[in-house]
Amino acid sequence: MAETTIDPTAPALPGERPRTAARFPVVLEGQPALVTGANSGIGRAVALGLAASGADVVVNYVVDPQAAEDVAHRIEALGRKAMTVRADVSSEEDVQSMFASAVEHFGTLHIVVNNAGLQRDAPFHDMTLEQWNKVIGVNLTGQFLCAREAIREFKRRGVVKHISVAAGKLICMSSVHQEIPWAGHANYAASKGGVMQMMRSVAQEVAPLAIRVNGIAPGAIRTPINRPAWETKEAYESLMTLVPYKRIGEPDDIAQAVAWLVSDAADYVTGATLFIDGGMMLFPGFATGG
Ligand code: NAD
Repeated sequence: MAETTIDPTAPALPGERPRTAARFPVVLEGQPALVTGANSGIGRAVALGLAASGADVVVNYVVDPQAAEDVAHRIEALGRKAMTVRADVSSEEDVQSMFASAVEHFGTLHIVVNNAGLQRDAPFHDMTLEQWNKVIGVNLTGQFLCAREAIREFKRRGVVKHISVAAGKLICMSSVHQEIPWAGHANYAASKGGVMQMMRSVAQEVAPLAIRVNGIAPGAIRTPINRPAWETKEAYESLMTLVPYKRIGEPDDIAQAVAWLVSDAADYVTGATLFIDGGMMLFPGFATGG
């Protein structure tokens, strides 16, 4: 899948809110990380951000190995180790073999980011079972399969105090649509609602083991998944009616938050969802009095 070619430091439109370059404090040394769907969009930025923060990274992909290799080379250019692994996150066999290779290669994993996701949109009355199953299979079952392997590895290893005070950190990429209903996208909204309750239930279950599990709920982030929503001036302006902060999110907005959330600076945070949405959850339609 093509990656965005937008210069992240350039405003999308004249007069748009300015952005600063991303900053990644080096606090994740010695903590190998695995990011699913890491060859595009948010996953790519998260993989690079974790590497900039000091982690070695497993770059998962399912299509476009060249894009995954490119991410791996960029990680190596940051002075970190990288490996690419092809795995369909909705396949139990693929996921188990990916985690086995990652642990064999890096010795363990301290950080897992459940990021892979997709959309198969349709009006509800036309939605096929295939469209429903595909989205639930990747977005929800895929997160279950990777979360289970992550928890097994964190539990097996336990806390290594000089590396991190937690035994492991799991991030589940959700969406504002874990809360906001989305006509024409019932499968996607259902998958993200499911991710939220899975994340919270697992967080409750493994907290006594010093394993932290959190969600990130992006609003509109400029990636290939939602290209029609930002690629024309008209679409962008229409999108901005939903975004009080009046700029689209960039993948690095998410990557910086992930890097913090998996660091010991966030050690008392578990079972939380961090909304990163420029205020999309603030009912923007009511800004003028409703
Ligand atoms: P993207 O299309 O750029 O990236 C999705 C990644 O997931 C790609 O690398 C894709 O190949 C991978 N993927 C898809 N199916 C897979 C499978 N079966 N196995 C392994 N990998 C698979 O889109 P993105 O915007 O970067 O999306 C990343 C995550 O963020 C998704 O979970 C998405 O739902 C979520 N999200 C995105 C936005 C946004 O505005 N971009 C908003 C809310 C949530």
